[in-house]
Amino acid sequence: MNLSNYLKLKNKIPSNVNILAVSKGFKSQEIKTIQNIGQNDFGESKFQEAYEKQLILKDLQQINWHFIGRIQSNKIRKIVQNFKYIHSVDSFEKLHKISNISCEEKKNPLIMLQVKFSNDPNKGGFNPELLILKWREIQELKNISISGLMTINPKGISSKENLELFKKCRSLADSLQLPDCSMGMSGDWQEAIEAGSTWLRLGSLIFGERA
Ligand SMILES: *Cc1c(COP(=O)(O)O)cnc(C)c1O
Repeated sequence: MNLSNYLKLKNKIPSNVNILAVSKGFKSQEIKTIQNIGQNDFGESKFQEAYEKQLILKDLQQINWHFIGRIQSNKIRKIVQNFKYIHSVDSFEKLHKISNISCEEKKNPLIMLQVKFSNDPNKGGFNPELLILKWREIQELKNISISGLMTINPKGISSKENLELFKKCRSLADSLQLPDCSMGMSGDWQEAIEAGSTWLRLGSLIFGERA
């Protein structure tokens, strides 16, 4: 990791756009180094890997942990106990379960619902029309705070296509009056900013290539 790259990147990003440093595949020491210069939001996609780092870093209380990976039902309790944000809620069923467990655990996680705007078979997510149909029911769920939508674009599409898909996410979030859009990764963060992202999920751009 190169701290001056991180600082340069930070200067290019508007102040209303948050950086989520995606630390999956990187060690707790690397998290510590970048946390030391003011990066407090970290994203992880596998519970066990994340939890090991959380234990090592438990004294760094300013860190906000974000879960961004595929959610297995049998891990929901642990995710609710250990993460402030959950970006990757991709079905009503899981959202409902998160709500029930959050009630039991007296937690109130911030949620971004993952939405799928393309036909990428490798990606999960709510279908936008179904999300709209379920919206009233979703809003009645207790002990969750839905702050926005999250999306992952398919690999290998053009810059223009990236921008179009991100704009769909932004406009759906606006129509549901949700402030946040978690969108944009190391390869498409500029388009995401242009479309109105509020959370860029950046891994390799900050930490370097994963082994
Ligand atoms: C790994 C990952 C990222 C970061 O990917 P980079 O290309 O390294 O920036 C962002 N979002 C999700 C959901 C990821 O799994």
